[in-house]
Amino acid sequence: MFSEITYVDVILPLPLQQKFTYQLDSGHLNKAQQGCRVAVPFGRTKIYAGIIDSIHHDTPDYETKFVLDVLDESPIVSKKHMDLWHWIAEYYMCSLGEVMNAALPSSFKLANETYIVLHPEWNQDTSKLTDAEFLITEALQLQKRLKIQEIAQILQRKIVLPFIKKMQEFNIVQIEDEVYERFRPKIRKMMRLNPALNFESALERLKSHRRSPKQEEFLNKFLLETSVEVPFHSFCKRQGFKTSYAKGLVEKEIVELYELEVNRIEQAQLQGAPLVDLNPEQERALTALKTSEKKVNLLHGVTSSGKTEVYIHLIKKHIDFGKQVLFMVPEIALTTQLVSRLKHAFGDKVGVYHSRFGMHERAELWRDVKNNIRFPIVIGARSSVFLPFQDLGLIIVDEEHENSFKQQDPAPRYQARDVAVYMGHHFDCQVVLGTATPSLETAYNVNKGKYGLCSLKQRYGGFKLPKVHLVDIAHAYKRKRMNGHFSEALLMAIENTLERGEQVLLFQNRRGFAPRQECQSCGHVPQCKHCDVSLTYHMSTSRLRCHYCGYTEKNSNYCKACNKQDVKLKGFGTEKIEDELQGFFPNRVIRRMDLDTTRKKDSYENLLNAFEDQEIDILVGTQMISKGLDFSSVGLVGVLSADQMLNFPDFRAFERSFQMLSQVSGRAGRKKSGSEVIIQTFQPDHEILKFVKNHNYPDMLKGQLIERQGFRYPPYYKLIHLSVRHRNRRVTEQASSFLAKSLRTVFEHRVLGPEYPAFERLKGYYQKQILLKLERTLSYPDSKEKLRRFVNAALSHENFKGLRVRIDVDPQ
Ligand code: ADP
Ligand code: ZN
Repeated sequence: MFSEITYVDVILPLPLQQKFTYQLDSGHLNKAQQGCRVAVPFGRTKIYAGIIDSIHHDTPDYETKFVLDVLDESPIVSKKHMDLWHWIAEYYMCSLGEVMNAALPSSFKLANETYIVLHPEWNQDTSKLTDAEFLITEALQLQKRLKIQEIAQILQRKIVLPFIKKMQEFNIVQIEDEVYERFRPKIRKMMRLNPALNFESALERLKSHRRSPKQEEFLNKFLLETSVEVPFHSFCKRQGFKTSYAKGLVEKEIVELYELEVNRIEQAQLQGAPLVDLNPEQERALTALKTSEKKVNLLHGVTSSGKTEVYIHLIKKHIDFGKQVLFMVPEIALTTQLVSRLKHAFGDKVGVYHSRFGMHERAELWRDVKNNIRFPIVIGARSSVFLPFQDLGLIIVDEEHENSFKQQDPAPRYQARDVAVYMGHHFDCQVVLGTATPSLETAYNVNKGKYGLCSLKQRYGGFKLPKVHLVDIAHAYKRKRMNGHFSEALLMAIENTLERGEQVLLFQNRRGFAPRQECQSCGHVPQCKHCDVSLTYHMSTSRLRCHYCGYTEKNSNYCKACNKQDVKLKGFGTEKIEDELQGFFPNRVIRRMDLDTTRKKDSYENLLNAFEDQEIDILVGTQMISKGLDFSSVGLVGVLSADQMLNFPDFRAFERSFQMLSQVSGRAGRKKSGSEVIIQTFQPDHEILKFVKNHNYPDMLKGQLIERQGFRYPPYYKLIHLSVRHRNRRVTEQASSFLAKSLRTVFEHRVLGPEYPAFERLKGYYQKQILLKLERTLSYPDSKEKLRRFVNAALSHENFKGLRVRIDVDPQ
């Protein structure tokens, strides 16, 4: 129904799908715009900050509350980006509020726990206040700030927002500033000469007063140093002055102190070095990218073929046109080398969007990107797709095959590479997906002609790809030719490499000393209390730890089940490997790189630097060492066991194993031919390992695509994964059966399950999973709409209170 009243639909930070409509009063009518934040009441006592999604005149069929305030003068999210939010919410089946939570830096979000404070301009006139208002002001004078709930207690009534709103209108109270805008620019105190004075007149003015040697010295030093302005505190510190010396000079109006907003992301003023010349193959790839008619292109270049240099030249073209560039990487913490290479080329034009930075830095970068100033190039992990670019020309997704582009939890469970591809069309910009080992999805899209393709087939400098050897450890174990976890071949190769003065990388895809402890008498393995997972032993802390929920307990030599002292360690991780190695090579420097050794700030960088400076002979690590590192003197890469990876129960296990093994191998011999890779395995005849050995991506792709099609998997089919969870096992059973049954009425044989996942219980919840395999020809909006209805029916079923359903579209 059309009405005179103006309404706004507001996105609230909640996992609820419905619209939240509020009224605008005349005072806020002109201020409200799509993309501005508003403070709105929610429920009886809460105030939330949300974002205006739309403004309209359609009266909803329930009574609407008023918007309390409009928090921004101009939208913080543009129309185009709001459209992107809508697309993500629909495609990944989550609420707009969840998208907002992922998109905005936390300093733009209002806390749920909103505080009320007295308005600074309130005239303290209590004579006109009602009793309730008086009580509130009195309490606020005592306590300074109160939560809305606390006010409800003081007034002994549930609904207090009308009081507060009225008091807000009369400028008696306000919502605490800090909550309005938690972003505070960093302020620096500066000192300058009174603009009316110059060098001489300043000294003269000082002379006209009673003599003060301290002030004279201070002023002289200042005038000598600069005629403009200096940061006040660092000037005093440098010159050994007390800050109080300046006081007299300020009083005499010779110098002025004032505050300047500075940007927190401080960087040396780098100019950027001239770009390197490309070799002919790189040149061809660059030209192909520059002239491609396709929005999206795959840059498929073998490891160390110089993809990064091609990116750099392409970026240059876009920023010369005044465009913005987004450079996406799988994990920002692992990109120190890349960041410094880009900074080398583009100096201070490069910004980094990093979750390790404080929220103020993130908010500052957000604003700079929005205003298209300072950083035309931004490097970021998946959440950088939400940055408010104004004029995006290019998105690069480096190592596009990496699954960290997919967000697992919480919703939105988006795949940032796929979002980037959507953005290519939505923002009309170029998208380059780069990797040595393209994901099957991307290769499929190339085959279909959806994406363009450019290739780099040679390593830069003409160096040969490393020679890969597969070592059969089943054989070696039988003949007792293994030393711990090392075959003779691997130990020999390590020895020879170190002799030549080169370095060794060893890859072991598992954390911790031993995955589990096992009782030799009864076979008991200690389990996590909350999850269906065995605990991992960590030598450095001598504790057992759950890698899913973080639960730990003290390690004991006695079996908890049978009480015998017969407990042994089974399996092996990076810590164990490091330990064994030190025994074989007591005089070599051996370090370990995994989540446990790089938790502390800078520890990753320190390890990298030490390895680069050849302070380390052997580096043992998890996946971390496979990711894009460019070292010049790695002569050998060893993989201790390829089998866990290959046997992992997932339809992507072979693809992933190929990618991972090719990527670690790619760390060898980047500046020299003749490097080697040794892969230990129980399955030396495994097809995937042969493809790795022969650097044969095309045949791996062909084989895997046939399998995927045959078993109805992506990229031929779409998957939607549902996880049904409840604290009570029976409810999980019943609810998942109920849901699967109702889904079958529409999706028929496309529904698989319910099935127990690898771990039946996780973090205290029993879970069962249902998988939907949908043909590409099916209408997705329609399927999702139906799916949503069935899920809602299960969630609101009276027998299933406390049920949770996690929906994952395109699971990875
Ligand atoms: P990729 O990203 O394909 O693995 P990189 O871009 O890291 O490869 O290049 C591998 C090495 O070759 C790097 O050390 C890089 O500096 C060097 N390199 C690549 N292209 C050039 C070039 N055109 N001129 C000079 N050095 C280059
Ligand atoms: Zn656990």
